[in-house]
Amino acid sequence: MVPGARLVILGRQGAGKGTQCMRLARHYVVPHVSTGDIFRAAVKAGTEFGERAEEYMVAGKLVPDEIVIGVVRERLCQRDARARGFILDGFPRTAAQAEVLDEMLDEEGMPLDLTIDLEIKEEDALARLATRRVCSTCATIYSTSRPPSINWTCDNCGGEVVQRLDDTEEAIRKRLADYNDLTTPLIDWYEARGSLVQIDAIGTPDEVLARMVHAIDSRKQA
Ligand code: AMP
Repeated sequence: MVPGARLVILGRQGAGKGTQCMRLARHYVVPHVSTGDIFRAAVKAGTEFGERAEEYMVAGKLVPDEIVIGVVRERLCQRDARARGFILDGFPRTAAQAEVLDEMLDEEGMPLDLTIDLEIKEEDALARLATRRVCSTCATIYSTSRPPSINWTCDNCGGEVVQRLDDTEEAIRKRLADYNDLTTPLIDWYEARGSLVQIDAIGTPDEVLARMVHAIDSRKQA
């Protein structure tokens, strides 16, 4: 394993991006930069920024590009990300975000190692999202069929494990539709740049992680 990595992870909601990005972050010892987690933390902290983001999130709508781009720019300029890399989860989600990210990484001399598209069919994603539960403190992901060991408190940090506010049927449908319309075009965009690998998201978390690590290490050693 070559330490450090600069990765973008795409995949529709329910593909397991959050779970796999946390594991990849531990494997390569790089920060996991999840725009959704950043927004949820701001909502929980009750900041003004969190209040603005919450309006969009509860409705299953995308937060405006200028807000998201500012958040990512600030995070990627921090020391750990500059020195070791990052795993971007949930960003970019629109063509405008992908273009700004490309420029930003170019300016900073931080080229991506790889973009991974975690592939899952819409019906499988829907089934996973309906049963998903998440730790409100550390964002570890569970499901009703794979709960934490003690009374919905997180096995990792003891935080409360809850259903996400935007995992309602209506918000899920809106988010999946936005993914199809706005984010799937990025798959071709990254493919045309030769930086995309597609990985099957179906399997145990260990199996999917092994596929991803194999793809990343092959690219880094090439
Ligand atoms: P996620 O945890 O990635 O599903 O994100 C949860 C919510 O945060 C999304 O439904 C959006 O409201 C907002 N969000 C996260 N990332 C982005 C992004 N790149 N662009 C716009 N909104 C985002």
